[in-house]
Amino acid sequence: MSTLPKLVDYSEAELDQAFKKLTAEMYADLENCNSESEAEAFRIKWLGRKSGRLTTIREAWLKEAPKEARRYLGLLFNNLRETIEEYAVSNVALAKGAQVVPVGSASTVLGRIRQREADAKLSAERLDITLPGLQRPVGVKHPVLRVQDEIVAVFKAMGYSVGEGPEVETDYYNFESLNFPPNHPARDTQDTLFIAGQDSRPARDRLLLRTHTSPVQIRTMEKQSPPVRIVIPGKVHRNDPLDATHSPVFHQVEGLAVDTNITFCDLKGTLDHAMKALFGSSVKTRFYPSFFPFTEPSADMQVSCIFCGGKGCRKCKFSGWIELLGCGMVDPNVFEFVKHNGYDSSKISGFAFGMGVERITLLKYEVEEIQLFYEGDVRFLEQFA
Ligand SMILES: [Zn+2]
Repeated sequence: MSTLPKLVDYSEAELDQAFKKLTAEMYADLENCNSESEAEAFRIKWLGRKSGRLTTIREAWLKEAPKEARRYLGLLFNNLRETIEEYAVSNVALAKGAQVVPVGSASTVLGRIRQREADAKLSAERLDITLPGLQRPVGVKHPVLRVQDEIVAVFKAMGYSVGEGPEVETDYYNFESLNFPPNHPARDTQDTLFIAGQDSRPARDRLLLRTHTSPVQIRTMEKQSPPVRIVIPGKVHRNDPLDATHSPVFHQVEGLAVDTNITFCDLKGTLDHAMKALFGSSVKTRFYPSFFPFTEPSADMQVSCIFCGGKGCRKCKFSGWIELLGCGMVDPNVFEFVKHNGYDSSKISGFAFGMGVERITLLKYEVEEIQLFYEGDVRFLEQFA
């Protein structure tokens, strides 16, 4: 049996130190109790009436301590005694085979032994086919990204490659090279989120959060001579307040095709095919004149209402048609910015289009509010699993 820690004096610091050691020793002993006989050995070592550790402490320290130290020593002693007795209670219960589960049983000798027995029994049985299976929820792609991938896949099947670009853009790529006149309303801070503190920079170098995926058109043409067929999916930002159909952050898929002899017919045929691939072969398309700075002529494309088939319903405001995307023939002024790379508008032509992914997702899944896509509410999202 190990001896008691040596006491230099009966100061509180010295006593604290001594009882700390004793408590650590007691817990170490407890840790080694793996059977009934070991639990009994623990009880004898600490609580044995003749030579248990507690009896020894009482004889050696409590009786010898000077009067002024007894109160504090008594406190520490009782504290240790109560802790040990708590475990001893479970030993006694164990010895008698009683079904007493003491407080905090998992950390008591009894609790730990029972747990070990249960574990051993379980591992002996190995497989319990009556246990219910573990349900592991499997994550799926967010509906917006799923639709974005679907759109991209439709164009990939037509031979388009996929391009990406930075979300933080310069004014040059976001506006200037796309033929936005200097005072175009889209350049207004009302619509565009500019990065702060750039007043000393030249206007074309100022950074902003891209308002569309169109800057990647120029970035692609700078790197790649014609022909080009590319789709550009990505996140864009506008200073729009959140409402049922608008969000300050949303996704677009942009497309660009440049080659010799590309005409508006190619644009119409390509988009008509894409819409049939996305919404079903019965969908019709039609084009209305529109305006975008980087295309000339420009058009808005509508699809026949996917809900009523064109008869007219609440969703299409009883018109039978739903506006879906903007498109047009690439403005020769845009080619001027990349002329050095083979984009001579007297020899080549092209078309571009851009669509909002959220808008198409709202239509495809008949969701009423755009916010539902961003709230991260599992009850909403798991419908798409
Ligand atoms: Zn309709």
